[in-house]
Amino acid sequence: MVHQANAPDLPAIRRRLLAWYRKHKRDLPWRRTEDPYRIWISEIMLQQTRVAAVLPYYARFLARFPDVQALAEAEEQDLLAAWAGLGYYSRARNLQKAARNIVELGEFPRDHASLGELPGVGDYTAAAVASIAFGLPHAVLDGNVARVLSRLAPELGDIKSDAVRKRLRALAEALLDGKRPGEFNQALMELGATVCVPMRPLCESCPIRQSCEARKQGLENQLPVRGARPSADRRARKLLVIEQAGKVLFWQRPAESSRLAKFWELPDREQLPDAKVTDYAGTFRHTIVNTTYFVEVCRATIGSRPNGFQWLAKSSLEDVPVSTAAKKALALLRAQSAAVSRRSGVP
Ligand code: SF4
Repeated sequence: MVHQANAPDLPAIRRRLLAWYRKHKRDLPWRRTEDPYRIWISEIMLQQTRVAAVLPYYARFLARFPDVQALAEAEEQDLLAAWAGLGYYSRARNLQKAARNIVELGEFPRDHASLGELPGVGDYTAAAVASIAFGLPHAVLDGNVARVLSRLAPELGDIKSDAVRKRLRALAEALLDGKRPGEFNQALMELGATVCVPMRPLCESCPIRQSCEARKQGLENQLPVRGARPSADRRARKLLVIEQAGKVLFWQRPAESSRLAKFWELPDREQLPDAKVTDYAGTFRHTIVNTTYFVEVCRATIGSRPNGFQWLAKSSLEDVPVSTAAKKALALLRAQSAAVSRRSGVP
């Protein structure tokens, strides 16, 4: 339900927002290029991942796969290793499928409909790439934009409902600056990411506060309205770190695994009941979608290599896809060893 308010002054909002963006935008590498390949990679990485986390991956990924051809020809293990830690690995696999389609097409798709046919490219990404790389008038509606618009309107219905998404989409399209759609879309997303943030928006610094109905009505902290979220499931796990002569024992998920296919994992305690636990290293929390795991990490020993497991050299772990849980466990172990060395005065 859109709360009754005066029709917003769209030209004034556009003008103020663009002026603010030009002055305050963060200097991000994908904003310094017009190359659709680089813009597309950034949009895929930024799905479900924060900017700060994406930055180092983006630089490394492009150094390794500088163009569509390189990505299309990449070895799967190299691709997954470059993505390891970013999560949602279907994104990496879809990127490669899409790169192969583009190589077959002979050129990068240049309009919203053809972009939307690439694997892993939904309406949001197609609109973002079409507007930013090709200057086409397609409005984006991601989480940041939906939040800003729901406050601007104000929109009092559940932001997840179809009716509300439809109304917000109509507002996004009406508001879009047809002459500078890419810059305008980025300005709206930037406002949501840095000023109109989920908790306690910074209204005093907001360039469109004069037009914002939520602020006028004191609703900025209540909006957007969200339906109940599913509560997180909690589970316990115990991971074993078994080392021998500079190598660590791992198992690899099968290619048909629904999650993290072909990624390397540390053994769970239940997989190796005969292993002898020698030391407790610590516990960390690891969340996957709606499940939070409390992962206990233990050092252990084992007589001989069990079937289905492999020794991987510690020095090679950067070059193969290792699951985030396993990386966290190994980091915890390194931190524990460093603390022990400091306490005992051993360099
Ligand atoms: Fe968001 Fe406040 Fe700006 Fe409204 S005035 S758009 S609530 S930051």
